[in-house]
Amino acid sequence: MHSATPVTDDIMTTTTTTTEDTMTTTTTEDTMPTTTTATATEAYVAAAAAAEVAEAAYDDATCSEACAATPDDHLPDCPNGLALAALHAAQATHDAAREAWLASDEPRDWEVRDDQASDTLHDVAPDDVEAEIETWLTDGDWDTSEGPLHLVAWAYPIDPTTGEACAEGRVEGEVTIEQDEPACADGEDHEWRTPHSVLGGLAENPGVWGAGAGIVSREVCAHCGAYRVYESARQDGSGGYHEATSYEEADEDSLEWVAARRRKARIAELVTELEDEYEEDALRAAIGTALDADEDATEDDVRARLDEDEDEDEEEVAS
Ligand SMILES: [Zn+2]
Ligand SMILES: [Zn+2]
Repeated sequence: MHSATPVTDDIMTTTTTTTEDTMTTTTTEDTMPTTTTATATEAYVAAAAAAEVAEAAYDDATCSEACAATPDDHLPDCPNGLALAALHAAQATHDAAREAWLASDEPRDWEVRDDQASDTLHDVAPDDVEAEIETWLTDGDWDTSEGPLHLVAWAYPIDPTTGEACAEGRVEGEVTIEQDEPACADGEDHEWRTPHSVLGGLAENPGVWGAGAGIVSREVCAHCGAYRVYESARQDGSGGYHEATSYEEADEDSLEWVAARRRKARIAELVTELEDEYEEDALRAAIGTALDADEDATEDDVRARLDEDEDEDEEEVAS
């Protein structure tokens, strides 16, 4: 036996309640905003709407019979003439309201763009938009391996009545994306120096050279041999000049200087530690040979060498 399952279609009927009647619409078309209370943006939007209304009214208006022959010089009571005068007044108000909106400090949307991309910035005051452009530029994924980048972008206010970007009120923003400072030698922070032997130039101003519109100055890190290069007027892609700092890898010259500097410092340390125990000339000679064998030679390594020498001397005396 097959028993049919009762289908309860009838209890599925639901009463859909529309809430359209409870929608609160807050249109204020009937109360034209006055310039004293409305924002410049609101006044502009209202003036644009009023101009549209005036244009439609003018399109619909026709001249009175008496006027029809002279459409450019309407009789005083001609409906078409009155509509035209109202349209001109509405357009003048619209133009003035647009200027006031552009000149105001009120937040607005902007179209921001550079050579490669564009985007919308929402609700930004003109005073703040330059900083927003810079943030937008900085947030990009930039390759600074060839040196710092100088970037420029522009923001155009978006007209609230048309949604179009306006050429008027354009704001320029620029930013330099610096190269990240490379890591120094293990456990060290860069110590920038200007050794003449590595950098050349004038003895009293080593590493500084004139270059085009400005100067280029170079420094070397005493720990890792990397170079830091400052340009007072680096040329960007668009022909402008900007300050820039970049970094170059250590080379043979700088590494040689770093090694010589380290050796000199180590000699001074070892001399200080051992000068009370040994005669200075012998001490310095022993330090030299110890460091030649191992650049990290310790106090004990030097001592061992000096004691060895003494043993040899004693043997010579004994024989
Ligand atoms: Zn007329
Ligand atoms: Zn360094």
